[in-house]
Amino acid sequence: MRRLTAKPESSDGTLVKNAPGCALLFDLRSKRMLRVHGGVEASEWLAAPGSTVKPLSLWALLRAGRVKPDESIPCPHYLQLAGLTMNCSHPQLPFPVNITRAITYSCNCATAHFAKRFTGDELARFYAELGFESATRLLPRGEAAGHIQKGISGERLQLQALGERGVRVTALEVAQAYRHLANLVYEPKFQPILEGMEGAVQFGTGRAAQVRGTAVAGKTGSVQTEPGLHAAWFAGFAPSRAPEVVVTVLTQGRSGAEAAAPIAGELLRGYFSEGKP
Ligand SMILES: [Zn+2]
Repeated sequence: MRRLTAKPESSDGTLVKNAPGCALLFDLRSKRMLRVHGGVEASEWLAAPGSTVKPLSLWALLRAGRVKPDESIPCPHYLQLAGLTMNCSHPQLPFPVNITRAITYSCNCATAHFAKRFTGDELARFYAELGFESATRLLPRGEAAGHIQKGISGERLQLQALGERGVRVTALEVAQAYRHLANLVYEPKFQPILEGMEGAVQFGTGRAAQVRGTAVAGKTGSVQTEPGLHAAWFAGFAPSRAPEVVVTVLTQGRSGAEAAAPIAGELLRGYFSEGKP
């Protein structure tokens, strides 16, 4: 199994992470891969994408006019969906949560609340439109295709909007979806989603992906794939307002904040400090 290493910006070169998985950094416009670790894992591992889909599912609702940027609810913190405990892990928030804050603080309660507005297979179709069931051709090799469950409703659909159940994807497919988001940054309607992803890296769970002098937009994800196995995600792009590169990390680890975001940060800091090829 290929090993990934990452060190936080503040370290003096001491390796603090060693985890199996994959990490990708590619040029937004040309789709040329600039850094690839674990190409096999990126193409073949299928995992629930977890909270990396919050910007996607909330964008689907915003784009369709199902939710307004200024709509908000107080987060009750506790959430049970179809027998799964999905309590929020963010600290108590002294303000109600709109879609921007739902992304920044990774609020399950607010995202699940807004996700009740999906009808039929609307979300499944949106995921398919993003390429969650298609080969990305981001790497010159064969790829597994993700799976999106159709015909679900109620709490199972809410779990699908949280990326927890009913959707399994490769890291390449998440990278492709974030490429799509990076191409939306100039659309006025997309700004609440972009601000949420910037906030996630500025003061949410994606802090370890920060780059000095460059704003990063991104989102972590943490899911239990089977008993005892945890997938940790980070997906994002930078600079957030004029994206050049897309980064995606999928590794084994209990949280995207601790296991995946530091690796994404290492790739991004390498790109922005070592000069662009
Ligand atoms: Zn919450």
